[in-house]
Amino acid sequence: MSFPATRLRRLRRTPALRGLVRETHLSPSDLIQPLFVTAGAGVREEISAMPGISRFSITEAVDEAGEIHEAGVAAVLLFGIPADKDEAGSGAYDDEGIIQMAVRAIKEAHPDLTVITDVCLCEYTSHGQCGFIRDGEVDNDVTVELLSKTAISHAEAGADIVAPSDMMDGRVGSIRYQLDEEGHTGVAIISYAAKYSSAFYGPFREAADSTPQEGDRHGYQMDPANGDEAVREARLDLEEGADALMIKPASHYLDIVRRVKDDTGAPVAAYQVSGEYSMLKAAASNGWLDEQRSVTEALVSMKRAGADFIVTYYAKEAALWLA
Ligand SMILES: [Zn+2]
Repeated sequence: MSFPATRLRRLRRTPALRGLVRETHLSPSDLIQPLFVTAGAGVREEISAMPGISRFSITEAVDEAGEIHEAGVAAVLLFGIPADKDEAGSGAYDDEGIIQMAVRAIKEAHPDLTVITDVCLCEYTSHGQCGFIRDGEVDNDVTVELLSKTAISHAEAGADIVAPSDMMDGRVGSIRYQLDEEGHTGVAIISYAAKYSSAFYGPFREAADSTPQEGDRHGYQMDPANGDEAVREARLDLEEGADALMIKPASHYLDIVRRVKDDTGAPVAAYQVSGEYSMLKAAASNGWLDEQRSVTEALVSMKRAGADFIVTYYAKEAALWLA
């Protein structure tokens, strides 16, 4: 017998052969585009650390959502930047709040576009923390009540999916119970099951104007050193009624995506965060990386790790490349 009998290069020889044995496929319907909606009118303001990504006032957000939908992207994930902030983040659960108005406007203009809303308080609190502060700490159970009110108001505005990103304990169960009580049994929950306390969120905080005034978020977001804990978080969220689980960030947490997928079998999302986007954009704009190839490779690696879908600031652009 000649050596070697098995030659894996045989099936790498031509594009057609490589296509036959490709294990992972990326399509626009795997992608979700985050969208920053701000108070005011006529606003289309690029975020300096995220070239290509802007904050939009509602009319402009509706137009942008139309382009995203047209590109074949599966859904938009809305983040709100309100005109006013207060201690209790009351803009988050105001029926006339920025997100509630944006959801109504987008669903009216593009009824077939799936609309997901971020459920958190940090964009709405004057102190920038993700919850209600009592005795110098974010109070878990009071925050969960406010988050549940927020989720219901988003559902009432027409959101298809709510996505709590706060990392309070018990919030998925409370949101599920209260949505059902209010008749929103069909509104799904994507929980940020494992949201790490990451330095890679930096550009987002400029975009959403949500930098904590004091301290950090280590008291509720996860320690990047932990993996077992992510699996426990994921199991708890499923028990509480989560329909899909999000891992955030993505690139440096692909092991977590795989572990959560293998352990739960539930739909898993990876969130390619602002810092991951900004690094790729910066390198590409300097001519150091081929943007299309490097971004596609990053997104494929998330799916290969076990993600069913991906939240990425590149969603619209990548969908156009894939078309
Ligand atoms: Zn938050």
